[in-house]
Amino acid sequence: MQVDFLIVGQGLAGSLLAKELLRRGRTIHVVDDRWRSSSSQVAAGLMTPLTGRRFTLTKGYPELFAAAQARLTELGVFRPAQVYRMFVDDEQRAKGIKRTECTSCQPFIARVTSARGELDEGLTDDFGGALMNGAWVDLPKLLSEVRAELVAAGNLAEANFEPADVTSSAEGVVWRQVRAGAIVYCDGYKSAQRGPFKYLPWQPAKGESLTLRSDVVDKPFILNREGWALPLGQGVWRTGTNWQWDQLDEAPTEPQKEKLIRRFRSYFGEEVQVEVTAHIAGVRPCTSDSHPFMGTHPQQPRTHLFGGLGPRGTVWAPLMADEMAAYLCEGRALRKECDLARFPAA
Ligand SMILES: Cc1cc2nc3c(=O)[nH]c(=O)nc-3n(C[C@H](O)[C@H](O)[C@H](O)COP(=O)(O)OP(=O)(O)OC[C@H]3O[C@@H](n4cnc5c(N)ncnc54)[C@H](O)[C@@H]3O)c2cc1C
Repeated sequence: MQVDFLIVGQGLAGSLLAKELLRRGRTIHVVDDRWRSSSSQVAAGLMTPLTGRRFTLTKGYPELFAAAQARLTELGVFRPAQVYRMFVDDEQRAKGIKRTECTSCQPFIARVTSARGELDEGLTDDFGGALMNGAWVDLPKLLSEVRAELVAAGNLAEANFEPADVTSSAEGVVWRQVRAGAIVYCDGYKSAQRGPFKYLPWQPAKGESLTLRSDVVDKPFILNREGWALPLGQGVWRTGTNWQWDQLDEAPTEPQKEKLIRRFRSYFGEEVQVEVTAHIAGVRPCTSDSHPFMGTHPQQPRTHLFGGLGPRGTVWAPLMADEMAAYLCEGRALRKECDLARFPAA
């Protein structure tokens, strides 16, 4: 089989890049190990505009959000939603009020409250909070639909890919029966552990999340304080998450489960019943400067990477997949802050 691009990994990065390359008339073959280490299958897919203790808007967020909204709406997986960030102290509330004066933040802040119960009397928002205009992305739907399309077209190999099994030459790469003009690694945090892009400054971080049933009244917004709780309707919630930089694997742990349940309960003024129906873990492909890694290996011109989407892949991936495809197909320059050439090769 001869194709233009062999893509390794069918998470958010590989799926959107595959769609962009096909849209440009290129031929592809994707190899994925049935999501064995998929961060995208674990993510809640939240797009939270202002984040962190300092409650800041990520640089470039309006442009990234607009592109993500357009592309993911086209794909039928964009879910507009409000996110209620409950402040943890007076200092954070002061920051929240200040952000309403910033013009780029304004479209993303619907309302700031300053006392408990102003928005919803069932919540423990002692310092008030900010109701933000955000979204969540139905990642399982996106991944399974793209997979079905790839399977139907005969463009998917379900296999464990080993970088050592690829031979590369000036003409292209060969992996098993696939001859490709080039290879693109979209294998999430696995590129931090082996393969040609291991030299980059990755900072992978494990996180866990729960799906649970609760008797708490459904809320019309996502709750956010330290972690988050996403109401899916009819008493079903997803809640997460934590950050762990050692023990990078997909194994859920009992201590984190207990912590996530405690935190979920802490959002509500009354005692709530909880029954956990699923508990999963994944590893975020984070990077040292919180920007994606995109581009070509410094010594292997046929070997490319589209990864490092970090904790906010849904925000970055749609626009960056388009820019990566334009780079691969039309030779358009990558934006400097995302081009992996910003780091010298080992
Ligand atoms: C707990 C948690 C919560 C998160 N919450 C959010 C959130 O709310 N919002 C948000 O935007 N982002 C969130 N993220 C981050 C988000 O998941 C990532 O940014 C994004 O999904 C990364 O996509 P990817 O395609 O680069 O990697 P992945 O989704 O990891 O995809 C890589 C794919 O490659 C496959 N693969 C790997 N190695 C091989 C191999 N050797 N052979 C074959 N296939 C292979 C994997 O199985 C997988 O299918 C969260 C992540 C975690 C872990």
